[in-house]
This record gives sequence, structure tokens and C-alpha cells, in this order.
Amino acid sequence: MRRNPEPVRTAGRRFTAVVLSFGLVGCATTSPYIGIGPHPQISRGRPQPLVDGLGNVLGLFAKLLLWSWKVDLHAVSPETEAWLVRYINSVPPQQKAFHDTRFRLNEWAPRDDLRRWRQNSHVAWPYRLLDLPWFIVLAVLPVGHLLGVDRYDPTTNTVYLYSDHPAILLHEAGHAHNSSTQPHKGTYAFLYQLAGIQLFEEYHASERAIFFFTATGDRHQEFGAYKILYPAYGTYLGSHLLPFGNIPGAVVGHVWGRLKARSRARYYAIVNPTPLISSSPSVSPAAAPQPATAPPATAP
Ligand SMILES: [Zn+2]
Repeated sequence: MRRNPEPVRTAGRRFTAVVLSFGLVGCATTSPYIGIGPHPQISRGRPQPLVDGLGNVLGLFAKLLLWSWKVDLHAVSPETEAWLVRYINSVPPQQKAFHDTRFRLNEWAPRDDLRRWRQNSHVAWPYRLLDLPWFIVLAVLPVGHLLGVDRYDPTTNTVYLYSDHPAILLHEAGHAHNSSTQPHKGTYAFLYQLAGIQLFEEYHASERAIFFFTATGDRHQEFGAYKILYPAYGTYLGSHLLPFGNIPGAVVGHVWGRLKARSRARYYAIVNPTPLISSSPSVSPAAAPQPATAPPATAP
């Protein structure tokens, strides 16, 4: 998100992608478990090879734009989910709105989303009513699930994730985190529609994700975050500057992100030349990372 698909994309482009690539894409991989867990805020949809495979086809444009097959994969690995558990554990329990957030991993649950929309006390009802058409299209109707739009919806306080990429997941968690710190969450969500606020919010959510990886010392994830979050931000910036500017924006973001990753690698080689080994958290739900090892919640 927030409300707008991320990266910017249209149904028309997706339809074109379907026609061009229908025969090239297989089904998504299955996941080892479904339902709730390992953290109660996280729920996981049941793998549906046909729906997930079609979702991959529809997501081809986004995959190309961000140059990663993991975008819109419609299957979120336990390794990616473990990063979310680690992030959730790092946020103090006092930030109640964040801990009320539901994280749906490739899950379509319209009935529960309707309940959350009705009962969400963090956003005033006029704002929830204003967002009702978007909410129905993206969360209640199956089209939103099929399109696989990674987003945070403040009207239900829910993150929807379809991409198997820790940086994208933590970016969306960053939206939920940012929203939880706002005194007037509905007003903030409404103002997000303004270009300047949207660009600031998107930048801030990506900064949170990158800071988290930096603080954990996982350089593999940090560098990977530059390479996907910078082009994603470029789609926003480009689309605000030019018609169809999301494509040149993504290209500039790819160059910028890779240069950033390279400069950070040179910096680490000088000041802290430890091996570049991923410290990804365990994939075992029972071995979820402990809060003591997580970075401060007040990421910049
Ligand atoms: Zn975003």
C-alpha cells in the first residue's frame, strides 16, 4: 500500500501479461503448513495450485518490473515468515495498534476481513466508509487475492502479502508500524492519497525495513532490500512525474539500489570486514527469534 497496488500496476497490463505468458509459468510451490502461526498475528492461506499459478501469471509484469520471480509468488516461505516474526517481536507491546495488525500470507478471508472492517477501532468509521469500495474490490471479492497486491490496509489494519521476499514483507510491516504510531490513523490514511504524503510514507516504510536488516547485521538481506525496495520506490516516484513513469522509475531504482548495495559492501569491507553470511532466522516456528536480539522498535 497502502491502498494503491504496489508497485503501481493496472489490470490492463496484467491482462496483457496473461496473454503473452500464459504458457510459460507453472504453479506456485506449496507451503509446509497453513492456518495460524507461528505467531498468532500471522495467518496463512491454504495453497491452491490453480489460483496461485494464475496469480503468478497475473503478477508477471510486477516480477519483470522489480526483476524478481519472488514478487507475487503466491507462496510465502517459512524463511520469509520468520523475518516477520522477528520484526513483530521487536515492537513493544505498548504499540497496541501494531499488535492488532493481522498479517495474511497468501490468504483470502473475506468474512474475517469484513469483521475486522466493522470492528477496527483504530480508524474512525467515516474513513472506513470512504474506503469501502476499495476494500470490497481488494479484500472481499476474489479479484484482489488473484491479483496478489502486497499492501497494508489501515481500514482493517491488515497486511496482505503474496511476495516471498523479506524486504517486501518488512516494508508492508513498516506501513503498519508507521500507522500504529499516528495519533489519528484514519486521517493519516486519508492524507496518504496526496502525492507528497504517499512518497514520504513509502520512503519511510522502506527505511524501516532496511534499518531492521542493517541492525540485525544480515548484509545479504540488507543488500537484497536495496535491490528491490529502491526500484519499487522508483515506480512511485516515476508515476508521479510522468505518464507510465513507473517503468523508467523502476529502471533508475534498479541502478540506484545496486550502486547503494555496492557502496555499502565497500564500506563494510573497510570498517567491519566480517564474512557476508546471512543470519536469517530459523525456519522452525518453535525457534522464533527472541526479542532481545532484535533492533530497537523506533527505527528511523
Ligand atoms: Zn508501500
